[in-house]
Amino acid sequence: MDLVTIDRFTSSGPAAVARATLEAAGIDAFLADEIDAHSHGGVRLQVARDDVPTALDILREAHAAAEVIEFPREPLDPTDDYCRRCGSEEVYPLVDRGRAYARALVLSIFGALLMQLLAWIARAADFALPRGAMNAAFLAVLAAPLLVAVAVNISPRMQCRNCRLEWRGRQWTA
Ligand SMILES: [Zn+2]
Repeated sequence: MDLVTIDRFTSSGPAAVARATLEAAGIDAFLADEIDAHSHGGVRLQVARDDVPTALDILREAHAAAEVIEFPREPLDPTDDYCRRCGSEEVYPLVDRGRAYARALVLSIFGALLMQLLAWIARAADFALPRGAMNAAFLAVLAAPLLVAVAVNISPRMQCRNCRLEWRGRQWTA
């Protein structure tokens, strides 16, 4: 069989993972020790010449999937912003928006429950709460998720994936 080297690894762990990935997709893959005199040792990943395009596709997809697993935050697309410290364009929202909304919703529900509890205690103590104040408080609790949604969109907390610098919105704070 005509074997072609499609990747090189400095350690056997990642090489074994890549080989297993290909084998799982039905492609015969082989690991060969790097014996090149100029290298410092390593492992070559080889497949049959006919399998090269498919194997490369599979590894590319596996790599993309691994990145998604490593960075589960959404959206994964970089913004048009860039890092002021290192200039990298790999800047992403630190908290994904869906999670921020969900957290705000949970807080809202807890807030509403708290209000109910206060009203119940007040009634049990035979103390009349001012109706206007209660209504305003309920409104604030219900509006909280909306306010968080607006805040997250206007001023998202950003992080540079390159140097880990964090800042909020477009305002850069070291
Ligand atoms: Zn940076």
